[in-house]
Amino acid sequence: MFYRDLNVPSIIEIGRNRIEQIDNLLLRNHIYFKNKVLFTQENLYNVYKDSLCVNTFSEIVCIKGGVFEELSCIHLKSSSTDALYVAFGGGSVIDSVKMFASMTEHPYLTIPSTLSNDAIYSPIARLIKRGKKRSFGVIAPIGIIVDTDVIRRSPRRLILAGVGDLVSNLSAKKDCEIAERNIGETIDAFALELASLGAESVLKFKVGDINTDLFINRLAYGLIFSGMAMIMSGNSRPASGAEHLISHAIDEYYPDRSTLHGVQVAWAQLMLEKYVRKDQQAYHQLYNFFKELGLYEMFSECLFFSEDDFRKLLPLAREMRKRYTVLNTIDL
Ligand SMILES: [Zn+2]
Repeated sequence: MFYRDLNVPSIIEIGRNRIEQIDNLLLRNHIYFKNKVLFTQENLYNVYKDSLCVNTFSEIVCIKGGVFEELSCIHLKSSSTDALYVAFGGGSVIDSVKMFASMTEHPYLTIPSTLSNDAIYSPIARLIKRGKKRSFGVIAPIGIIVDTDVIRRSPRRLILAGVGDLVSNLSAKKDCEIAERNIGETIDAFALELASLGAESVLKFKVGDINTDLFINRLAYGLIFSGMAMIMSGNSRPASGAEHLISHAIDEYYPDRSTLHGVQVAWAQLMLEKYVRKDQQAYHQLYNFFKELGLYEMFSECLFFSEDDFRKLLPLAREMRKRYTVLNTIDL
């Protein structure tokens, strides 16, 4: 079969007190498994063990997450094929479970403890393998549960990074349009629109809104839309353009200076608009939004790259992968 056959997520639940209702939510969405294995981090488990429906799980596995080599150390007590994996944690736990579920061919769902990037619902895992961060294509989650109370308690810098990753879809969209125009690349217009609508939906918010249900809902849905857009188009195109290549170049060539993915792509997007695309309107809109939200301050707090460093990153970024972006249209 060569035509697109899109499976919608079996469960998307976003709201308050969701982790206390995991059992009911699964039943309500007709998700029945003999065994359910919860993967999480020890510190997170200790904070939430009284709220999580721990009795619903046949096994609870604490992992560090984020490192490929750790996966070979995971040995489940039961090797039941009728098991659902549940990833409760930040990006590193979720990415590890995605990879582990793909390797063992098990369905999984995610319960993010924060919203730091679009990995919460996407077919891509970023893991450190042999000391370097790598992207892996994985099976998509069967669904996602977002507890807005848990997200609200997570560090603000992680939530801001999630905003950065989401808004970078607007940069990715520009690169898709260039690729379509200049080299005739086939772009999935619907997936692209979905990803950019999610990004646009958060642009009106300011720093005072970050703890509100409305903001957390918009951010969660936006990041889920990004993941769905990637699943639909069969690649990360709708949510990953030159700004992601620059972020990957930082991870690759300056691992000691790398920071949160969402912060790196946000900074790269801002720099691209100013110095490469030279779209002053987009630059000012983005600058003002980042300023209003408190994301701009994070650049000077945790991202130690000057504008000169940015220029040096461009040729490295262009070689990161075979993907036509605005970087292919300029002399480097
Ligand atoms: Zn990203």
